[in-house]
Amino acid sequence: MNVYDSDVLAQTLIALGFSPVDRPELANLILLNTCVVRAKAEQKAFSFLGRIAKLKRRNPALRVGVVGCLAQREGKGLFSRFPFVDVVAGPRELERIAEWLTREDASPQRMAATSLTPAPPLPTIHPGYFTSRVAGFISIMQGCNNFCSYCVVPYVRGREISRPPEQILSEASDLLAQGVREITLLGQNVNSYRWHENKSWDFAGLLHRVSQLKGLSRLRFTTSHPKDLSDRLIQCFSEIDNLCPHIHLPFQAGSDRILKMMHRGYTRQHYLTLTNKLRKTVPRIAITADVMVGFPSETEADFRLTLDLIERIRFDSLFSFIYSDREGTQAARLENKIDENTKGSRLRRLQALQNRITLEKNKQLEGKSAWILVEGASKKGELSGRTPTNKVVNFIGDSRLIGKIVKVMVKKGLPHSLWAERVE
Ligand code: SAH
Ligand code: SF4
Repeated sequence: MNVYDSDVLAQTLIALGFSPVDRPELANLILLNTCVVRAKAEQKAFSFLGRIAKLKRRNPALRVGVVGCLAQREGKGLFSRFPFVDVVAGPRELERIAEWLTREDASPQRMAATSLTPAPPLPTIHPGYFTSRVAGFISIMQGCNNFCSYCVVPYVRGREISRPPEQILSEASDLLAQGVREITLLGQNVNSYRWHENKSWDFAGLLHRVSQLKGLSRLRFTTSHPKDLSDRLIQCFSEIDNLCPHIHLPFQAGSDRILKMMHRGYTRQHYLTLTNKLRKTVPRIAITADVMVGFPSETEADFRLTLDLIERIRFDSLFSFIYSDREGTQAARLENKIDENTKGSRLRRLQALQNRITLEKNKQLEGKSAWILVEGASKKGELSGRTPTNKVVNFIGDSRLIGKIVKVMVKKGLPHSLWAERVE
């Protein structure tokens, strides 16, 4: 989502006559796009701001903006904490940056834009911006209404709004016209995409329409919420040829008691039923998820239920996180917090288990062929791409293959990728 937002901003700046530089030292405008979903993301933003402070001392003409979720949460407060910051804009006010940059007066006043009500910005695809990119993102909705008890997203990204389907289709066509071959539709919970003007659209309807666009080789989406994963959406995997057989379906925890405290709206049994249905519909589907350890009051028994679910489902890979308190959320007010050592050791145990499963799954692919969309060159003479199931594959090849779909034979399953050879 933030990569998408940063692209929108970059295109806005290019349209205003700015051009990108390779290093922050060379810039006369720096916009820092930020995330506050976990404490670690927030710390990274603050430490980068520290770096910018030094740059500002060396170059007083440097203008600095903080955008995204940290900007939303801190608002004007950032000006007193970081006096060199000139502009602050939340995720729903990114388009105000252009307004601020084009103000008439020579030294524009500081601006803090943190309203959560405006409609999502219009597509701003700048001609040529995506040329030479193989994969692109499109945000199909903003915000979230779920209020999972641990999560700050609904507070900093506001209520859920779906974008009009015409806007999404036109943005997709623009990407395809610039040579993009794979599109990932983005939202905090794409399953609840809804549009009611002129004709009723749900997410499955949108997927069908986008999939028919000429030139689209691969279609993906993320993230799906288990409580809203409908049979109709599951069917899309067998009905839509260019929809990749991969679903990212965060489960967060394997214990019903914890899931309930998280307000996730499903049980572990429901999650198991969903993954069984998905595999019945598309046996080769890859399933990945987010999971966290150390939610307040999580016992060793709760944690073992998480490990047990991981063993039962055998995910292709997992993003795993240590729970951190987010100010203003319900979970932050709970008692019985888990100490850092326990959280750390649970994360290590979980990751050791998943690493073993991922490696086993990758090894099972040895000797099998796969179709790769080549995205770029990783090292000298090495190309990199992904399988339809979203596994990273590296192989030796000519860089003219970038942007093409090629057949490879998997030679080696590695912990985080596959090594392959091209099959002519
Ligand atoms: N909308 C998506 C998730 C967005 S946030 C969904 O519901 O699946 C991305 C991930 O960050 C979450 O899935 C969760 O695993 C993690 N996360 C969110 N809040 C967190 C917190 N307070 N501490 C640790 N991890 C958190
Ligand atoms: Fe956060 Fe839950 Fe919304 Fe995902 S669904 S963004 S975890 S509140």
